[in-house]
Amino acid sequence: MAENQLGGQQYLILPEGANRLIGKEAQRTNIAVGYAVASIIRTTLGPKGMDKMLVSELGDIVITNDGATILEEMNVEHPIAKIMVEIAKTQDKEVGDGTTSAVIITGELLKNAGNLLDQGIPPAAIIKGYEMAQGVSIETLKSIASPISITDDDKLERIAMISLGSKNIGTDETKKTLSKLAIQAIKQVATKGENGKIVIDRDFIKVEKKEGGSIENTEFINGVLIDKEISHPGMPRSKKDAKIALLDVALEIEKTETDARIEITSPEQMQAFLNQEEKMLKTMVEKISNSKSTVIFVQKGIDDVAQHYLSKAGIIAVRRIKKSDMEKLSKATGAKIITSLDDLTESDLGYAGLVEERKISGEQMVFVEKCKDPKSVTIFVRSGAKQTTDEIQRALNDVLGALTSAVEDGKYITGGGSEEVAIALKLRESATNIGGREQLAIQAFADALEVIPKALAESAGMDPIETLVQLRSKHKSAEGKYYGIDVYKNVIADMEKLGVIEPLKVKLQALTSATEASGAILRIDDMISSRGKSGAGGPPGMPGMGESD
Ligand code: ADP
Ligand code: MG
Repeated sequence: MAENQLGGQQYLILPEGANRLIGKEAQRTNIAVGYAVASIIRTTLGPKGMDKMLVSELGDIVITNDGATILEEMNVEHPIAKIMVEIAKTQDKEVGDGTTSAVIITGELLKNAGNLLDQGIPPAAIIKGYEMAQGVSIETLKSIASPISITDDDKLERIAMISLGSKNIGTDETKKTLSKLAIQAIKQVATKGENGKIVIDRDFIKVEKKEGGSIENTEFINGVLIDKEISHPGMPRSKKDAKIALLDVALEIEKTETDARIEITSPEQMQAFLNQEEKMLKTMVEKISNSKSTVIFVQKGIDDVAQHYLSKAGIIAVRRIKKSDMEKLSKATGAKIITSLDDLTESDLGYAGLVEERKISGEQMVFVEKCKDPKSVTIFVRSGAKQTTDEIQRALNDVLGALTSAVEDGKYITGGGSEEVAIALKLRESATNIGGREQLAIQAFADALEVIPKALAESAGMDPIETLVQLRSKHKSAEGKYYGIDVYKNVIADMEKLGVIEPLKVKLQALTSATEASGAILRIDDMISSRGKSGAGGPPGMPGMGESD
């Protein structure tokens, strides 16, 4: 099949062993793969969702119910499966939470599109209908959203608790503690941007972890925690009211300078040469101590001789700091990152109430804390087992994302499947005014969204179809518009009253990614793979992912 005919002559276009799927066959395969990927993570949705255990080739174990993590760790091969993973990653990057939902909805949109294709509806009409439905969904969501601000502590805590709710990381008490830490972090780094809008740069909330201790030891640091040790044993281990210099400089004699060939013919000459080097290093240290800094963080290396002089001057030095940590230190302490020692002055220094090296689970770490109104903070996660520590770190990523989305956007909606049912109702109403093939696609979109309440019902052991029927009828009445699934009591209930709330932005992003990704996948009518041999059992040339259902 990898050849063309022109005037009776055959031309090879694709390399030997290349595979190609065309038209319906390509679409069917892609839909099956997309749906299969979504099915894998479907059972993890919500607080009653299950975890997945993933074992890497090297035997590393990850236990999680975080959609993005599961998909990433699965190492999928098929190109469509990779697109599904990308959806989760984008969701993770943009808003931090809602990854599982985004992927499950995409899978359902694909499956329903498959049914429409079987009825002879062309992909273009399906995609158009899906896009129309997306528009209506976004409008509907915005119309049912309520306001939230950075001072609404109760609501922020609800949002945090709901985001953490689906993570298996300990008791409600633990989750409350983590929620409080996350809210504190968000508030601390929040700044007012243009037109008074609140901006939160999540990059400046560092989540550092070290296994050992217990979850209760998890702490908030008004500053930065650096996973390094103080470079020389002769330096002080702790410094109060630290004056901090951040140096993107090597405190070493550059290799290029010493590479030049030097003819040394006598011991005196050798000594002179070494003295010269030592003098240069000493001068560097003098420049540092002249600036009045008492602690330095150096992005590059520090020569032994320089370390010696620094210790003599009573200066704490930490070397080989990551660039990202340098930026965090700058935001936390107010220090300017200096690229040449000649530029270093006292006004470039930052401040921390305490810089101290502490031994944590047998390893030294440097705490830069008690900063004044730092715009960069750290949550230091402790827990007995590595698996839990890792999952807490991932959970914090979700909570911080959810809180940031809520505060920046200023809107929240109700969860527990309530919003999906509300949108689906609206979509079915609007579909009747549209008619034609797009109408069917809009209805298919509505059905797809209802996978969320269905999956939540299943996770709680409720009958998904019956629950959905109850929810739909409840939503037709005025007092029923926030009804969703109370997964703890196995009944339908008012989610606003129950405090099951989520940021609007997370849901908007999930809907947008799901619509775009399903559209992109449906547009493909030709899969050409030049990667050679086909995997056993799988579709030709598309390795892996044979388990579509
Ligand atoms: P995601 O990766 O999509 O965030 P989660 O596993 O966190 O997946 O589950 C999120 C879903 O669970 C949302 O639909 C949310 O409304 C729902 N949910 C979370 N907490 C509750 C709760 N206490 N009761 C009902 N539904 C909940
Ligand atoms: Mg979540």
